[in-house]
Amino acid sequence: MERRSFLKKAGAGLAAGAVAAPAVAQTAGSSPTVTWRLASSFPKSLDTIYGGAEVVAKRVAAATGGKFQIRVFAGGEIVPALSVVDAVQNGTVECCHTVPYYFFGKDPTFAFGAAIPFGMNARQQNAWMYHGGGLELMREFYREYNMINFAAGNTGSQMGGWFRKEIRTVNDLKGLKFRIGGTGGLPLQKLGVVPQQIAGGDIYPSLEKGTIDAAEWVGPYDDEKLGFNKVAKYYYYPGWWEGGPEIDLFVNIKAWEALPKEYQAILEAACYEANVDMLAKYDALNPGALKKLIANGVQLRPFPNDVLAACYKATQETYDEISAKNAKFKKVYEPWKVFLKDQVQWFAVTENRFDNFMIAAQRSTQARAPAAPPKGGAAKAAPAKSAPAAKK
Ligand code: CA
Repeated sequence: MERRSFLKKAGAGLAAGAVAAPAVAQTAGSSPTVTWRLASSFPKSLDTIYGGAEVVAKRVAAATGGKFQIRVFAGGEIVPALSVVDAVQNGTVECCHTVPYYFFGKDPTFAFGAAIPFGMNARQQNAWMYHGGGLELMREFYREYNMINFAAGNTGSQMGGWFRKEIRTVNDLKGLKFRIGGTGGLPLQKLGVVPQQIAGGDIYPSLEKGTIDAAEWVGPYDDEKLGFNKVAKYYYYPGWWEGGPEIDLFVNIKAWEALPKEYQAILEAACYEANVDMLAKYDALNPGALKKLIANGVQLRPFPNDVLAACYKATQETYDEISAKNAKFKKVYEPWKVFLKDQVQWFAVTENRFDNFMIAAQRSTQARAPAAPPKGGAAKAAPAKSAPAAKK
């Protein structure tokens, strides 16, 4: 009884009408229906990388009760895959989902937003973007293109790609027509490679027709889907030009500023989600795809050390040359370089030791696994008892 009367009094004290009414009004006023179009640079068949845009769109719709709708269009559907930045810049679409380095032809500074050769892995890229000053630097740069950027995906370290012939020495790179994403083509040009910029969906026909000699895309899961193993059998690694490329949502700045604050927060959170989700998906799916490719006769090859060393040297020269003539690039490159150096030293300590130990431990466990029972032999006898015998 006493409690009830207390509540009654408290209710009266709160002046229910005065507080509740504005709350309702505010909710109604801040939830307009917003419909955006998103131009992706990727084909629908690639559920991982194209899927990042869908992760964003679905979360945004779910978190706004369907009030904020983002319609995702595959590369070429409403905007050519490699023209999506123009479409955002001039407001043809509100946003796009793409890899910033595709646009290095406009300005190589774009590439820092994704990956540059011998740069960061996915973890380091996130560290730089979110907590290392990267976001501020890139936002300042993209502002000139009427865009604001959000990390919304990462593929993790990529493979070096598909080659018809083996790469044994630096000389084997001469004259090689190689489809390569991002700025990796710049240092490779110094070594005689003829780099080709081709969107994901168009690579296979070019490789099949022999218009190009080699092509890289992402990694086992996507590459197997695109069928590159049918037209080139040597699968090289690492994709040193893409240690952990970030995929971005670029939003037209006016469209962004016109959004209610709640929608801005929801969109930003959805991009964080897409960034984590895409990398997790690639990491979960790549091992199985790689096993399948190897079982189908793909020849896995590491780039030889002297080839990597020559590429590294050519890359450092490239950065010095661009920095000398492009102040915007230099402004990002100088702090980026310092951040990377610290990251590499840090990762060299516990991450590297842990990874290397695990690799060795797992390999030696596999080596000690019991052999298959001999044909016609007693299947039961082999496993348990042969294990100790296999141990040296
Ligand atoms: Ca690539």
